[in-house]
Amino acid sequence: MRYFEQHIRRVTPYTPGEQPKETDIIKLNTNENPYPPAPGVRKALQEMDYDLLRRYPDPAGEPLRSAIARELHLKKEEVFVGVGSDDVLAMLFLTFFNGDRPILFPDITYSFYDVWAEMLRIPYETKPLDQNFTIRKEDYFGENGGIVIANPNAPTGTALDLSALREIIERNRESIVIVDEAYIDFGGESVVPWIREYDNLLVTQTFSKSRSLAGMRIGEALGCETLIRYLNDVKYSFNSYTMNTTAILAGAAALSDRAYFEETRQKIIETRIWTAEKLRELGFAFSDSVTNFLFVTHPVVDCEALYVALREQKIYVRHFSKPARIAPYLRITIGTKEEMEALLGAIREYMKKEGAL
Ligand SMILES: *Cc1c(COP(=O)(O)O)cnc(C)c1O
Repeated sequence: MRYFEQHIRRVTPYTPGEQPKETDIIKLNTNENPYPPAPGVRKALQEMDYDLLRRYPDPAGEPLRSAIARELHLKKEEVFVGVGSDDVLAMLFLTFFNGDRPILFPDITYSFYDVWAEMLRIPYETKPLDQNFTIRKEDYFGENGGIVIANPNAPTGTALDLSALREIIERNRESIVIVDEAYIDFGGESVVPWIREYDNLLVTQTFSKSRSLAGMRIGEALGCETLIRYLNDVKYSFNSYTMNTTAILAGAAALSDRAYFEETRQKIIETRIWTAEKLRELGFAFSDSVTNFLFVTHPVVDCEALYVALREQKIYVRHFSKPARIAPYLRITIGTKEEMEALLGAIREYMKKEGAL
């Protein structure tokens, strides 16, 4: 092997859900929002001063950073913005996980965490969720190099009891605890106010799901001023201008339309409750979700085969073969009511054909 070949940073990349080219499909596989972004976003883009593109954007992401601070009742010094929460989370791993002790996260969670740990050579250990796919808080009480918890969790869709989460943070004042709140707007309770209480807590959120802006790439981290300063020092040593001018303006506009945000997130919550009821009638089993997806299994239907059959009908849901424990499950994003009706129709047809109905 040549010298450079021996020294390549070899990584196994994260596999995102499929983004098929056809437009006539029902896409329920990547937890995108079925509704368009707030009308104010279109207006902001149309009215954007074209000449602004000649200039570098604001490195701190203003005016978006201040808009997020206002929305969450924080100081702008407690807010960090980036190119989706993936970019923000990667920057958090790079900044805060530099010790020899392993960082901890559940065995079933967002599958980017182990990819970043591998890529950045961060030692890590996964802690198995219990039978009900719930975190056992005691697993996080030992010595560690940091903790990452998605709350609500993906792909399970359930939230951890806040008293358990508080106990994990309190018993780990020597470590950074990251709480990934990508799905918080669909029914969970945010721990953002706790950043004033715990100087070892960082919370991340995204505009990709509840604000319909996955294509714009906007995410944020919230934490005490000191932690955000460390994070900025690393970011400014890597790339000062991560967020582009268009995304900064679009994000700020999305935040200013609160009525639209409330309306669309309520619609998704209602559709989730309705879909859950219909799936239970068909014999599917799952815990109550507080996200924009359902994580379901069935006592007789082979969910992987169902996934393939739905795909042939141009309905895409997500199936994970690893870890083996979740292979019997499907993660179904909540789309519009019409999309969920089509999904349920296709599932009923499949079950009849298989003699399961
Ligand atoms: C979708 C998601 C993210 C990342 O979203 P971005 O589009 O990068 O903002 C982060 N964490 C979890 C758990 C997610 O599901």
